[in-house]
Amino acid sequence: MQSSSSGDHARRALSAALVAVAGVAAGTVATAQAQSSLPGSSVTGGAAPRCVVALDPGHNGEDTDEFDPVTGVRMIDYPNGGEDADALEITRAVESRLALAGIGTEVVKTSVDEDVTYRERVDRASGAGAFMGVSVHTTPGADQSAVFPQRQGAYRAGTDGAGGHRTVSFDNPGVAAESQRLSGVVAGARSMLEGGEVPVRDNSFAGRDPLWEGNIPVISLIADMPWIYNEFGSATGGGAEGLTGAEKARYINGLSAGLVAAAATSPACTGVGS
Ligand SMILES: [Zn+2]
Repeated sequence: MQSSSSGDHARRALSAALVAVAGVAAGTVATAQAQSSLPGSSVTGGAAPRCVVALDPGHNGEDTDEFDPVTGVRMIDYPNGGEDADALEITRAVESRLALAGIGTEVVKTSVDEDVTYRERVDRASGAGAFMGVSVHTTPGADQSAVFPQRQGAYRAGTDGAGGHRTVSFDNPGVAAESQRLSGVVAGARSMLEGGEVPVRDNSFAGRDPLWEGNIPVISLIADMPWIYNEFGSATGGGAEGLTGAEKARYINGLSAGLVAAAATSPACTGVGS
């Protein structure tokens, strides 16, 4: 359970660097107090979340297709060409930036070839006591940058392991609210530093069989902590075709600043940088 605080989290003592970044991004979100009611976001036996961001470099080292033992949702993932190494490179660079700001990280897939399911990733994040999870992806199309939050009632649906039709819906209003707040902070910073609008919106999995249909990534659906799923849209490549060096630099800058701002306005990071 997260401890509540009546203080203004954005005003706590932080280093000048943290304040500079937080001040910019906090302008996009005026509801920092919403986190005070965050219920049960931790599965670490009730301990308060730590100032640790779980970083999830997108895609798996090999084709994987299993049903989640907890929710029953189908967990399909696969290698995706250039995106695999790009996502890990960007993740490691963001990890270094966050370390400079005193923010811990747990990278939940540590090599391009590692085989690790969505359930294993969220378990690693929970085990580290992370206060939020962040998926790092790239995609074709300069207008396809986005942050996907968790929302109450967001779902995936399809044929389950027993052959029946199953719908798995996100059902944790407090975590959903915090995910949307954090998504706004990160998307605001990303928009400024990447030089283009990064909207907060839902994903769509319509017509992507064998993926279950719905509107939320599986990893976000099964995470029991705030989780935000990032796409960087490339003008010339993206996804399997890879990003240019300049695009990676923009993504690293935007995501790093966004996550510093997210931490600076989160109770788990009280005192960081002070
Ligand atoms: Zn991807």
